[in-house]
Amino acid sequence: MKLLFNRAFDGANEMYAIAEKCLPQAIQELGEAAPIAMPNTAYNLANHSTYLNKKITTLGELRQSLPEVKSWIYDEQARSAETQGTAPRLEDVFKSGFGAFMAAEVIEACKYAKSAEPYPAPYHGHLSDAEVRELGVPLVTGDIPGFVVIIGPAPSDEEAAELIKGYQSRAIFVFLIGGIIDQAVRMNIGMGFPVRIVPVGPDIWSVAHIISFVNRAAMIFGNVQPGDRDEFDHYTFHRIRAFVNAFDPVADIVVGCGAGAIAMGFPVITNDVKDMWKVPKSLIIQENTKDFIETSLESRDIKIKVTNIDIPVAFSSAFEGEIVRRNDTQVDVDSTKMDCFEWVRTKPAAEIEDHSIELIGPDIDSFEPGSRIALGIIVEVAGKNMQSDFEPVFERKIHHFLNFIEGVMHTGQRDLIRLRVNKNAFNAGFRARHFGEVLYTKMKSEYDAVIDKCQVKICTIPEELKKLRAEANKVYETRDARLMSLTDESVDVFYNCILCQSFSPAHVCVVTPERLGLCGAVSWLDAKATNELDPNGPCQIVTKQRVVDENLGIWEDVNEAVQKASHGSLQQVTLYSIMQDPMTSCGCFECICGIEPVTNGVVIVNREHTGMTPLGMTFSEMASMTGGGVQTPGFMGHGKQFISSKKFMKAEGGPARIVWMPRALKDLVGKKLNKSAKELYGIEDFTALIADESVAEDPEKLAEYLGGNGHPVQNLAPLF
Ligand code: SF4
Ligand code: ZN
Repeated sequence: MKLLFNRAFDGANEMYAIAEKCLPQAIQELGEAAPIAMPNTAYNLANHSTYLNKKITTLGELRQSLPEVKSWIYDEQARSAETQGTAPRLEDVFKSGFGAFMAAEVIEACKYAKSAEPYPAPYHGHLSDAEVRELGVPLVTGDIPGFVVIIGPAPSDEEAAELIKGYQSRAIFVFLIGGIIDQAVRMNIGMGFPVRIVPVGPDIWSVAHIISFVNRAAMIFGNVQPGDRDEFDHYTFHRIRAFVNAFDPVADIVVGCGAGAIAMGFPVITNDVKDMWKVPKSLIIQENTKDFIETSLESRDIKIKVTNIDIPVAFSSAFEGEIVRRNDTQVDVDSTKMDCFEWVRTKPAAEIEDHSIELIGPDIDSFEPGSRIALGIIVEVAGKNMQSDFEPVFERKIHHFLNFIEGVMHTGQRDLIRLRVNKNAFNAGFRARHFGEVLYTKMKSEYDAVIDKCQVKICTIPEELKKLRAEANKVYETRDARLMSLTDESVDVFYNCILCQSFSPAHVCVVTPERLGLCGAVSWLDAKATNELDPNGPCQIVTKQRVVDENLGIWEDVNEAVQKASHGSLQQVTLYSIMQDPMTSCGCFECICGIEPVTNGVVIVNREHTGMTPLGMTFSEMASMTGGGVQTPGFMGHGKQFISSKKFMKAEGGPARIVWMPRALKDLVGKKLNKSAKELYGIEDFTALIADESVAEDPEKLAEYLGGNGHPVQNLAPLF
């Protein structure tokens, strides 16, 4: 039997041999100067950066660093001469594993040099920086409790499907490599990044993309510096709860990669009993593949909170990104055509029968398949500690809760909603009352500190809905008026949020009425509710009594709170400036803004925008300038809704600094931004003065556009 060490060394050498063959072929075809073109990342070849601290930009540079990659992989002959026969150490195994990852990255880089899209569907290949960032919030909230990399094929198609769906229903993010992808296709499993099942590639070297993904998470959220291997290992072990499932037979080349995974703190679970060795907590043999999930979760100490909901389909945050297409739709609730809405209201306890779910009107099986129907949902709650300020917070959760249902898609809120149930869910028995079951169970379990009783009413009678919607509208208006009256000056306290510290240990958001958290998911009201629901939780009260500078937004007590929450790594933040002590960024920001020196303004770009900006950088590149809880004057991550705030860069002149935004972002925030600009500067239709990708993607064209249109930035003092 071959020693496990030797299997890992042979495997890593095998990977290297393939890389050594691919690279000269690519160079012969494209030349040494051909750029390395991993799409939508600012980290080039992230694994080379991580281990070698080298920014590789061309195939020629990759060739030059190849000997260094080789030096990481244990070579028996070369080494025995040097060490006179001393046995290899564990460190040699780990380094060889990382060598295998770099060699795999060489193979993948050659593919991407030759073609912009080397992976045909269903394969995903490289993961973008935006995808890394998108996972920030679900990871910190525990919506994604961990990651599994499954290297297949499983013994049967059915077993493959069972395992994948088993992980998905537990909200574990799934990466697939190899034959298991074909099995998933044959079993009709919906795959893709949004549903958290990513079929990476058919060959083991596609693992380079997963390792790159993890290493970028460490750089983006943890501010780990390229080349600092100890910190990377520490970060991945403590902050990223990943593990590997490798099906029998496990080839040497997979063992080589497994060595790297184990070095990162990711245990490998396998049913291969031949030529395999147990290593406590790291290499676990589980002959019964049906127990893979349990053994895996145990190995990384992942505890899944299960809420049993009485519905005929699965329920998991993994289904949040699921899309229901027109042809698959059984019923389509569409508020643009009919009176549809959702509404949370407080009632006296005596008027609520706990867990009552009432359907008023016909059920969804009374309509023809594909019908557009009217539907309204009213969630009524009672509780001693309930406050009307919590109603909108709970109401916005309806979007998430209904989206977690397999086969259901939900968008929007209030009376601007779209809700679709697909045919599979319908055929499995899903009916209107199941919306109520989900909302009842989730509201009661998540907000048990304030909701003592809850009942749900679902109405499908158009005349009734018309009346109820008008009633709901009055409440929405009252709430909006309350929101409008909330300013940083009108409240006594702010809140901090440290949820992201589980990934970004030094990061703190200060959340105020006019500045929501940079993830876009935590408003002042949300933070207030979080604090009152869980006084020792992630959101703490920050007083604001000792003002230092109102214009920059500096308070002594805010600074003290930030110092404490960041464990001393931050001394001072300003709430209204991006030039002086700006707020830190964790990495999951919705937008990034950066100063544009030619026009003296700022460029804002949202995560969804993949094109170029006039700064000569894409979102990913700008985003890589800040993060990991560090202050970076001139660059700042923020939420989309902050753009229209009168406190946006107030110290530097306010939103008048904004000179460029992608069109889609303008459309999204335009109405509110125009209103603020009108009130602040008396300018009508301000967004028309802001450039977008249709008029400029470089500073010259941008300056030309602004010069001709009287943009207010031209009257502002120089930024520096
Ligand atoms: Fe993270 Fe800030 Fe959002 Fe809290 S408010 S979840 S710390 S980004
Ligand atoms: Zn974050």
